[in-house]
Amino acid sequence: MKRKLHAFNTGEDGRDNEETGELRSEILSTIKTNNTVTMAAVCGMNDVKKALLDAIVLPKTFAQRPGLALLYGPPGTGKTHIIRAVAHVSKCTLFVVKASDIGSKYHGQSEKKIRLLFEEAQKQHYSIIFIDDLDCIFLNRDNGSNEDEDDRKILASFLTEINRIGDDIHNVAVLAATNRPWTLDLAVQDRFDTKIYAPLPGLETRKSILKLQMKGHENDLDDDNFQHLAQALQGATVREVGSLAKMACLESMKGDNTYAEANGKYRPTLRCNRCPQYQEDSKVKCDRCGAIHISPYDVPDGSLECRSVKMDDFVKNLKPNYCSVTDEMRQQYEGWNK
Ligand SMILES: [Zn+2]
Repeated sequence: MKRKLHAFNTGEDGRDNEETGELRSEILSTIKTNNTVTMAAVCGMNDVKKALLDAIVLPKTFAQRPGLALLYGPPGTGKTHIIRAVAHVSKCTLFVVKASDIGSKYHGQSEKKIRLLFEEAQKQHYSIIFIDDLDCIFLNRDNGSNEDEDDRKILASFLTEINRIGDDIHNVAVLAATNRPWTLDLAVQDRFDTKIYAPLPGLETRKSILKLQMKGHENDLDDDNFQHLAQALQGATVREVGSLAKMACLESMKGDNTYAEANGKYRPTLRCNRCPQYQEDSKVKCDRCGAIHISPYDVPDGSLECRSVKMDDFVKNLKPNYCSVTDEMRQQYEGWNK
């Protein structure tokens, strides 16, 4: 669905300095500070990393026309994460812009924001402007949408800026991501001379993500278990692989509402055969084994500990249809830009 970026409104002039100052600080707030994502922290995706380094970092190194690259693929494939790594490794200032950052309810403000964005990016030593969900801003006009005059102006303003890259803009690379590349405006598609497919993670990558997520969590899993889980996650996105590990860790904290309490810490434990029934909203202690029966949500903040994470904690969350990207969707991505 197309997000509405603006509307006719306002009797305001929209050109005064105070307003420009506000818009400018909105634009500056899209800069990602403290960006410390390294390439090593991005599991797998070696082809994508290489393509991005070629498209964005090489031109910077050799002082050539800055790159314009479009990254496309299913949602949740870690596109934003990898772009942060590219910005970090190339020591670029990273602007992360979404449709909501460009949008405005005031007529004419969106174009102004685009202009200010490129203006601010040029003031930095070298910038990467990353536009996430590009299709939310620039839909294909041939799709019969009821495009209005304002949409046309926003598009024109964006094209004007990116057309200046290489001519009078020499220190701003533009990277964009989309989950629906085929819905993009054709002129916009055309301007991105590098199109990079971010596919679903392969088996080894899924395995590395699981292992990375489990780092620092006590667990009983061996390499075969990780292999088995990675196979079962065939078709999962990076996000889905990561969330399964997070859910498993959560299971290891929830236990069966039965905890051993020591030094103010609660650690999941097993029931003895004399343990009382757990009762909601109450804290019951077993006379025999000393286990506390309490909901994990009633345990004081910061005092919940986990038991070792088990294979079963993963398996119980791996429901059929856990993976959201179907074969048909995958083929549609693979077929685009062929
Ligand atoms: Zn007991």
